Amino acid sequence: MIILDGRATARALEKNLKVKVEELKDKYNKVPKLIVVLVGNNPASLSYVKSKEKACKRVGIDGFTIRLDEDIIEKDLLKVVDELNDDSSVDGFIIQLPLPNHINADKVLNRVKADKDVDGMGLLNAGKLMNRQKGLLPATPKGVMMLLDYYNIPLKGKHAVVVGRSNIVGSPMAKLLINADATVTLTHRYTNDLGYYTKQADILVVATGIVNLITADMVKKGAVVVEVGINRVGDKLVGDVDFENLKEIAGYLTPVPGGVGPMTISALIHNVIEAFLLVRQRN
Ligand code: NAD
Repeated sequence: MIILDGRATARALEKNLKVKVEELKDKYNKVPKLIVVLVGNNPASLSYVKSKEKACKRVGIDGFTIRLDEDIIEKDLLKVVDELNDDSSVDGFIIQLPLPNHINADKVLNRVKADKDVDGMGLLNAGKLMNRQKGLLPATPKGVMMLLDYYNIPLKGKHAVVVGRSNIVGSPMAKLLINADATVTLTHRYTNDLGYYTKQADILVVATGIVNLITADMVKKGAVVVEVGINRVGDKLVGDVDFENLKEIAGYLTPVPGGVGPMTISALIHNVIEAFLLVRQRN
């Protein structure tokens, strides 16, 4: 079994990005700038935001966090979004999810200007993905595709099964795999006999947030298993697949932590650079 090492892959890709950022700096006299908007004090979000800032630093782009009070009202958050949309020094920004319940997340995400929507969560970028047009892709599924590509895993004609259908991971993941010419089955909480489908997968991507949902008997020998789920159990982080028992079955497997997490951040940084270029090459 080969470990799909997201951390090492992300670091390897960062080396190329660092060179690219130096070139941009020489050409445009500016480095790309990412802003992360963080509402409240969710500990997981705080840790993700820190990792994003650190990654920006490593590749030499500007990365800052705007921290807002948990109690901020929707109107005021939308005002912050509008200001970032209008700020020409900002190339891309994201609203760190989850948002507090009193805020309509869809409304906020859709207010982000498409050119700066580096999490690919707005309607325009989602629609472009649906119609196979070039746009900014959601960072986690994009990161998974980058990881599969780095390990030269063939997708054309393969059967990919995605477990989970959220707008942020499962649904765009399925679409990216379709666009890469895989045959895709998308499963979710109402799928009967989940194992019937997962056992047929050449490539299995799991994103549910349910510990041990995928056991060894649900996976075909030699399958590529990509774990997106991150769950805290006691003081440990674990995924949705039974990692220890799957080691004997899977051909490739992502660890948690150190698998898809670092690739998500890498994909985000790629998106910021893409957004920076998108606007400059158009003008
Ligand atoms: P979500 O709660 O929005 O969606 C979960 C999905 O799982 C739903 O589509 C649901 O239908 C499906 N599901 C639930 N029970 C199921 C079952 N019994 N069988 C099959 N499908 C079932 O979650 P999300 O935002 O898509 O995130 C999923 C997981 O991925 C979470 O653990 C989250 O923390 C993690 N995540 C990781 C990263 C990363 O960078 N590694 C990024 C985003 C999310």
